[in-house]
Amino acid sequence: MPKDIPTLYGSLVFNDKVMRNKLPKDVYEALRKTTENGTHLELDIANSVAVAMKEWAVENGATHFTHWFQPMTGFTAEKHDSFISPDGNGEIIMEFSGKELIKGEPDASSFPSGGLRATFEARGYTNWDPTSPAFIKDRTLCIPTAFCSFSGEALDKKTPLLRSMETLNKEAVKMLHLLGNKEVTSVNTTVGPEQEYFLIPKDLYKKRRDLIFTGRTLFGAQAPKGQEMEDHYFGALKPTVASYMHDLDDELWKLGIPSKTKHNEVAPAQHELAPIFDTTNVAVDHNQLVMEVMKKTAEKHNLVCLLHEKPFDGINGSGKHNNWSISTNTGINLLDPSKTPAENTQFLVFLMAVIKAVDDYADLMRVAAAGAGNDHRLGGNEAPPAIVSIFIGDELEAILTSIEEDSYFGKAHPVQLETGAHVLPHFIKDTTDRNRTSPFAFTGNKFEFRMLGSSASVANPNMVLNTAVAESLSQFYDELKDTTPEEMEHAVHELLKRAIKKHKKVIFNGNGYTEEWVKEAKERGLYNLVSTPEALPHFIANKNVDLFTKHGVFTKGEIFSRYEVLLENYAKTIAIESKTMQEMLVKDFLPAVNNYSASIAKNAAEKKALIPNLSTASEETLVKSLTEASNALSFKIEELKEVTIEAESVKDIQKRADLFHEKVLPIMNELKEVANKIETEIPDMLLPYPTYGQLLFYI
Ligand code: ADP
Ligand code: MG
Repeated sequence: MPKDIPTLYGSLVFNDKVMRNKLPKDVYEALRKTTENGTHLELDIANSVAVAMKEWAVENGATHFTHWFQPMTGFTAEKHDSFISPDGNGEIIMEFSGKELIKGEPDASSFPSGGLRATFEARGYTNWDPTSPAFIKDRTLCIPTAFCSFSGEALDKKTPLLRSMETLNKEAVKMLHLLGNKEVTSVNTTVGPEQEYFLIPKDLYKKRRDLIFTGRTLFGAQAPKGQEMEDHYFGALKPTVASYMHDLDDELWKLGIPSKTKHNEVAPAQHELAPIFDTTNVAVDHNQLVMEVMKKTAEKHNLVCLLHEKPFDGINGSGKHNNWSISTNTGINLLDPSKTPAENTQFLVFLMAVIKAVDDYADLMRVAAAGAGNDHRLGGNEAPPAIVSIFIGDELEAILTSIEEDSYFGKAHPVQLETGAHVLPHFIKDTTDRNRTSPFAFTGNKFEFRMLGSSASVANPNMVLNTAVAESLSQFYDELKDTTPEEMEHAVHELLKRAIKKHKKVIFNGNGYTEEWVKEAKERGLYNLVSTPEALPHFIANKNVDLFTKHGVFTKGEIFSRYEVLLENYAKTIAIESKTMQEMLVKDFLPAVNNYSASIAKNAAEKKALIPNLSTASEETLVKSLTEASNALSFKIEELKEVTIEAESVKDIQKRADLFHEKVLPIMNELKEVANKIETEIPDMLLPYPTYGQLLFYI
């Protein structure tokens, strides 16, 4: 039977339609006002909403509720409480109050806080975020919430994101009003994250400790085939994968997540999903859910979904493209070039604000994409390089150049009205060619930030982007605020000219994957922060602390705590990888190698006993090679063990992370090379784990 998708869509979401049906009119209006303007919600309204929510949830099979939040682990957290409450006569009723809806008090002591929350103040608060709709998952009503400490510091990813949306809203509206666009009363950023992932058979996954403990293979010889045939990208879906994707779409649609596009990616066993964009806060929540549902759905199909940035060596890793734009409550996308002069002045101001933001805070953008997993991609000649630059396309660049040189669009596009006002021909969207190597590309009516890793929450990059653009707008505002309306056109032109001169160094339309670009970027004075421990100190640089505190996105304490959490996370990740590698090599791999060479030696001796003149030269060569390699491996494992212990004992967290990067990782790489070479010399049936060939091609 064909499914009725419009009915299925959002069936597990307490969305606007449900609210209109379930809530008394005045309550509905009050709630709407709160979601739209961020005004305070009275308790009696909350009580009324809670009753309706519970009723709806119970009708749809829910027995529990949870405050669903996003601690600094990058994952989501939930603690379930049932609706049941004793009625005093030995029976129960299903209950849920406004207080329970608005506020939760989970014990915060086991979530990372970077020293913000002393353990004697273990209490944390979760606060309902009515701008992101509640939904049902596993018979549980999930209420999106922000998470903070007893004393009000943010302990999650949502709080700073919401603060950044607020500051951008404020600065953008101010600017629009100054430019004469008085109709707009609020501005929102929109986000559409494209999500890459791998699917592999579950039975094979379970045979690899590295995949289980670290999410990636720590070694493994290349399969005879990789991605060189370029036959996987957009290729026809295999039935197992197609069936998984159908199921995934259904599950996401039920949750009101507008999953739109799906296809095979470049690497074998790699795929992508993209939803239709939404407001930033909702898109961030949805992306967390997408990742969760992807994993769960895979289980049902006897598959495992890998979200790690680099599960396999030698083929592409997985990223996440964060498509971002700004739109007004009057329905205008501010990054959409327009034909009318007033609107394209607006477009150019906002475009320039983004360019300036990315140039001024390129280091923060890099920090937002940092993490142990993503370090395998950035600069690794497959993903955008670690250098943050902007692609705007040749034609838009020509326009900026003509503004800089007062030559209005040059020869190619001499479009000018009689008034002298200049208009943008509406060609940009169609002709921005697809530069795949740029980390930050203008794609017609939005920017696409491509540095992100596949497993990362999209909260941080959007928080940085929103705040940095708010700062650009605030500076532009200060430069323009005393200008009369008659002089505005000219003043804006002069402002753009100054800004282009200052920030054009961040614009680069060429191939970002080349050595020449690395050199040129250095000459231009752009950052090239190639590793997480190198990038993270920029988070606490004075200019960046000033930015966040000025806009009320973070307090200084919150920034330093996050810096610490990120470093801790990096060091712990590499420590786990190192220990997993040691365990796999010592407990599985070396015994297999030694058994194999012993059995060859024994066979050779037996053959010789039978036929004394027989040459066993090939066996001898193999035994020698295997024994030497396994000796080398044993020595290196000892070295890795020592260096890991040394790194773990370092008190200073920055130094600890540096040591993991500089000393532990290189030894792991050396070990990987040796193990991969041995692997090619032993029969598959004696290998203690499945090979790359099996993992990548056996679905
Ligand atoms: P690509 O060609 O890079 O795969 P698509 O055109 O498929 O890009 O769009 C990628 C993503 O960009 C989708 O999630 C889409 O919804 C999103 N997107 C489109 N317009 C906007 C916008 N104005 N703001 C944010 N995201 C957007
Ligand atoms: Mg894309």
